[in-house]
Amino acid sequence: MVDWAAIEEKWQKRWEEAHLFEADPDPDKPKFYITVAYPYPNSPQHIGHGRTYTLADVHARYRRMQGYNVLLPMAWHYTGTPIIAMVERLKEGDEDLIETFTDIYHIPRERLKELETPIGMARYFTEEIKQGMKRMGYSIDWRREFTTIDPYYSKFIHWQFEKLRQRGYITQGSHPVGWCPHCGNPVGQHDTIGDMEPEIQEFTAIKFRAGDETYPTATLRPETVFGVTNIWVNPDAEYVKAKVDDETWIVSQRAAEKLVFLGYRVEVLEKMKGVELLGRRVVNPATGAEVPILPAEFVDPNHATGVVMSVPAHAPYDYIALKTLQGLSNTALKKRGLRPGDVRPLKPIGIIEVPGYGEWPAAEVVERMGIETQDDPRLEEATKEVYGEEFRNGLMRGNTETYAGMRVEAAREAVRKDLIAEGKATTIYELVKPVYCRCGTEVVVKIFENQWFINYGDPDWKKLAHENLDEMTIIPREFRQEFENVIDWLKAKACARKVGMGTRLPWAPDWIIEALSDSTIYMAYYTVVRHLKRLQPDPETLDVEFWDYIFLGEGSAMRVSEKTGIPIEELEKMREEFLYFYPLDARHSGRDLISNHLTFMIFNHTAIFPRDLWPRGIYVNGSVLMEGQKMSKSLKNIIPLIEAIREFGADPLRLSLMATAEPIKDADFSRSLAKSMRETLERLYDRVMEAAKHEGNPSDLKEIDLWMLSRLQRHIAEATEAMEELRVRRAIHAILYDMNQDLEWYLRRVAPQREQRSKAINYVLRRVAEAQVKMLAPFTPHLCEELWEALGGEGFVSTAPWPKVDEKLIRPDLEEKEDIIKACLEDIQHILRVTGIQPQHIHLYTATSWKWKVYLNALELALAGELDVGSLIRECFKDEELRFRAREVPEFARAIVEDVTKTPEDRIKTRLEMGVVNELIVLQDAADFLKAEFNCEVSICGESDPWIKDPEGRAKRAKPYRPAIYIE
Ligand SMILES: [Zn+2]
Repeated sequence: MVDWAAIEEKWQKRWEEAHLFEADPDPDKPKFYITVAYPYPNSPQHIGHGRTYTLADVHARYRRMQGYNVLLPMAWHYTGTPIIAMVERLKEGDEDLIETFTDIYHIPRERLKELETPIGMARYFTEEIKQGMKRMGYSIDWRREFTTIDPYYSKFIHWQFEKLRQRGYITQGSHPVGWCPHCGNPVGQHDTIGDMEPEIQEFTAIKFRAGDETYPTATLRPETVFGVTNIWVNPDAEYVKAKVDDETWIVSQRAAEKLVFLGYRVEVLEKMKGVELLGRRVVNPATGAEVPILPAEFVDPNHATGVVMSVPAHAPYDYIALKTLQGLSNTALKKRGLRPGDVRPLKPIGIIEVPGYGEWPAAEVVERMGIETQDDPRLEEATKEVYGEEFRNGLMRGNTETYAGMRVEAAREAVRKDLIAEGKATTIYELVKPVYCRCGTEVVVKIFENQWFINYGDPDWKKLAHENLDEMTIIPREFRQEFENVIDWLKAKACARKVGMGTRLPWAPDWIIEALSDSTIYMAYYTVVRHLKRLQPDPETLDVEFWDYIFLGEGSAMRVSEKTGIPIEELEKMREEFLYFYPLDARHSGRDLISNHLTFMIFNHTAIFPRDLWPRGIYVNGSVLMEGQKMSKSLKNIIPLIEAIREFGADPLRLSLMATAEPIKDADFSRSLAKSMRETLERLYDRVMEAAKHEGNPSDLKEIDLWMLSRLQRHIAEATEAMEELRVRRAIHAILYDMNQDLEWYLRRVAPQREQRSKAINYVLRRVAEAQVKMLAPFTPHLCEELWEALGGEGFVSTAPWPKVDEKLIRPDLEEKEDIIKACLEDIQHILRVTGIQPQHIHLYTATSWKWKVYLNALELALAGELDVGSLIRECFKDEELRFRAREVPEFARAIVEDVTKTPEDRIKTRLEMGVVNELIVLQDAADFLKAEFNCEVSICGESDPWIKDPEGRAKRAKPYRPAIYIE
């Protein structure tokens, strides 16, 4: 049995004592600098958090074994609302939260009190998370730890913002932002329940009118105003008549509340139900046509104005809603307060011409999909199709006045601009979907006055960001496009707020820089923080000049030294250390940070640092599911990290988080998975410990031994290739499963010779064990240190060299020959299974020489891409011997063409190089093995040998690489 806890403790202590992961500049060694997004210490870690950090650590350990001087630091993000919001919930006595803390994470109730201040909570969880990271065996240089409210850090952030401002990237003004009315704060992704980004959409509210009343219909497709047949309200919702600035608007009650945040003066005059609006007639401001107000259930009063225009020719929802109404009897219509005369005559008005569709594309798609009701979920799909087709390929029809003939995309902008200019429409903002602040309040859009922004919308800045991205490694590669898109659509982002912990804006100290803005270039800060902690300068002296010198090499060391009291040689040391580790080689984080943090990092680096110091790589990974489901308190499937380490061991846990999925996918964790990983590792432990007992001797290596060593090289190559792109699942499979499979085969094959040839076999087993231990070390470092020590390895396996492929040991010919035996074994097993006979004697017949000629001809043709039965026969008949076999050759040719066609090119090449294989010898060498496997006699002969015993006439079925079989 493996005592996981003891092994973990032992090696964590040894690493610490050896200062193994403390990275100092070393001019003789190439560096590799990895960082991973620092955590908000506002709750304990669960295994979901473990994946990103483990992947970063695996990466760090892999590079270290490749000979790099690897720096992996860690710090704590105290800034902003994530901690404050948690403290608030705790202080308010939120039962859910208290239960999570006490029942799931086992925080002692008597300690909850100390979590009721932001600092108290942050300190508590910093310690908790740090312990978890240490116990997971992360190879972190803890000397560089800091928090984002440290005075030195604040001075660093001041410098960052002064730089951004100098470069013209800070703006102040009014912009729509996600806003929590309860907290009175702008809200970003990290402030919301479920980490949802409050995405803002710009709507055009087109003002339909009835007398002095305005019905602002919110739309993303203003160009369709020409196809309006009616407008919709939700009959069951609450509406109001309100004075909005100087007009009288009819909107949903919720809309009236939200308009205030958009900067309108709103005074509610009268409340009513939607049903009371039905049958009123309003005038389309674009066409002058009078249209009725009708009811539709799909209208969401919480979204935009709650008043919607109906364009049944081009909007599937509208088409279905109208069709439903028209399907009602006159009595039913009247019961709803509708005049049949308002409903019956309405006909869709086609205003966009789309190739491949008739006059009413929406109607067509709805009928084709067989959609009947407004609550059919396929309406979304139908809508997507129609909108997409019209946007890409649509042209405005002749009935759209001056816009006729325009492309939809152009018409949309033109109609919108014109309507607004004529006072017939206005702009309103709404969230794409509802988002809730961590305090539980629904987020609204607010036009924020005098807010400070980082202007990620600046086109020149976007260009720089693209240039950085172009030169960067993005892993998994599939995410590159997502970064491209985010760079393109990012707009000005609010960067400061009035509450929370953090750094004050240097020029406006009543504002505090928010969490996604003070976390973009701190990778630079890690490189020098340990010196600041040691030298203890007065933070106030670390002004712009100091950082300019350290990070940009500007100004004079002497002046900075005078001001800060830091000796010149120390300043130079910091500058050198920064230049040694920068640029950053790998930034790790969960994929949810692509749309903000990771892209902000790119932008800010390009704004502040010279081009050669821009980040070089970003590595992202999916999240962790628990038995296929999201982890959540309500599902009771959260496993705290500390608990998981205790239950499974750190190494089995690390392996589980890495082995189940490539970084691009979500990983699916389960207790049974972790247990099976632990068992796999325990078997490995036993085997390596056994191998460690014997050094072995390579003087008597046979083909089968060389085969195993060849396979070993293949797995090293495969694992190394996978690791280069951090395809960790593939790597683990090569190192552990594929290798074990070959090893099992090898052990079976040599079982009969185990006694006589123990030295050679032990030699092979030892080489395999060493390579496996090394390659698994990034994943399961504690166990591998223990095994490395047993194997007599030098120093720590953590810094041992990653195995290199020994090309000389790669023997494709031996692998081909071994495959003959494998195939033979499988064929025999198959026959026995099918026939159910108890074998007494197995006869194997190898193909005769003329068949080899045909086969090699087939390989030649296949390599030239010219293989078919006809050409093969023609080629064969150029040979005199084969011409004599006028009947057999075509028959055999037909029998092998398909097989050869399916053979991969590299195998064809190998087999051509090998030429005729003496299969008699290959099988003869394995005869003992086959005898032992089937516990019966095994004889082998060539199909044309005169002494052949072949009562059933099977021998003629023999093919090269596929002996024929007869079983008695
Ligand atoms: Zn709130």
